[in-house]
Amino acid sequence: MPILNRVSDMYDEIAFWRRHLHQHPEIGFEVHQTAEFVARRLEEFGVNEIHRGVGQTGVVAVIRGRHGDGPAIALRADMDALPIVEAGGQPHASTIEGAMHACGHDGHTAMLLGAAKYLAETRNFKGNVVLVFQPAEEIGSGARAMIEDGLFDRFGISHVYGMHNMPGIPVGDIALKRGAIMAASAKFTIRIHGRGGHAARPHTTIDPIVVGAQIVGALQTIVSRTVDPIAPAVVTVTRFAGGTADNIIPEAIELWGTARALSMADARHIEERVTAIATKTAEAAGARVEVDYNQSIPVTENDTDEAAFCTRIAREVVGDARVDAETVPVMAGEDFSHMLDRRPGTLVFLGNGASAGLHHPAYDFSDEAIPAGVSYWIRLVEGKLSP
Ligand SMILES: [Zn+2]
Ligand SMILES: [Zn+2]
Repeated sequence: MPILNRVSDMYDEIAFWRRHLHQHPEIGFEVHQTAEFVARRLEEFGVNEIHRGVGQTGVVAVIRGRHGDGPAIALRADMDALPIVEAGGQPHASTIEGAMHACGHDGHTAMLLGAAKYLAETRNFKGNVVLVFQPAEEIGSGARAMIEDGLFDRFGISHVYGMHNMPGIPVGDIALKRGAIMAASAKFTIRIHGRGGHAARPHTTIDPIVVGAQIVGALQTIVSRTVDPIAPAVVTVTRFAGGTADNIIPEAIELWGTARALSMADARHIEERVTAIATKTAEAAGARVEVDYNQSIPVTENDTDEAAFCTRIAREVVGDARVDAETVPVMAGEDFSHMLDRRPGTLVFLGNGASAGLHHPAYDFSDEAIPAGVSYWIRLVEGKLSP
């Protein structure tokens, strides 16, 4: 079964929403206009329930099927943009200086609205579909905020599904895998307190720059020497800050970094090693260290049965040749992982073609992916909640 005809009819309207959202990006939890735009459209569609302000600025809607009672499943889209100055000169470019939909969440939101419109019209399922429009994905807090606001219990959700566009995959193709599809993501700050002094009298100081350099070097051994070589992991130091002049050894410096892994066991191992290396290296030099380690995003883990189900749905929608059911995982993190931690489900990638990469100033969501994405959502609901 190919792209739904009704979805093709709705294409112009969905693309119009997408471009409107692209012109008005909002960041983090401050997605007030976006949430209002979403809620207004949902009112027009005549969904059964609309809840504003779930997890601060999230919106949740419920559509009841016309075939009686059944489970409730959730479809999730993220609404937030990034603090990037947009490069593209297209007519629908951002009108907000320093904010940009550079991750395609404008497309995710518009596609879920398209699915909502169709599902509210046809209701050809049993049970409930719960539409989840989430804030603050890019800062890794929105999914957790909605969960802590009772998302799963309030709406009786048994399964949860997500979708993210992916540059480099042909437009409208669908890629997924069972198990880990996106990485656990941690951020860390290491503050090294030495003893400052004259640069020409180093023996009277404890030089935090030398300690920091040793720590950066030693951190490189975590992945290369202590993680199984066939298990992907990353430790990257992204900032090395301190010092004021060529003749002063500073009191303190600061390192920032991030770690990624495709298993929580590796993620916890890396946390333990970063902390131990920083602490022991500083101790050996007589310096003091503070380590803030924030294991903020778990592995995005697709349930085996649900990945098989979603593969079948994707093949129905776009055809066997355009579905990759064993895609390569990516080492970026996605806070939808918090939802998959609580309920079984699947995150799929929707091809965005040869666009600029995610988070790049020249990126743009590809509207040509809309029919595949919206049809996938609809068929997923009608398949999972079939009467
Ligand atoms: Zn992003
Ligand atoms: Zn994203």
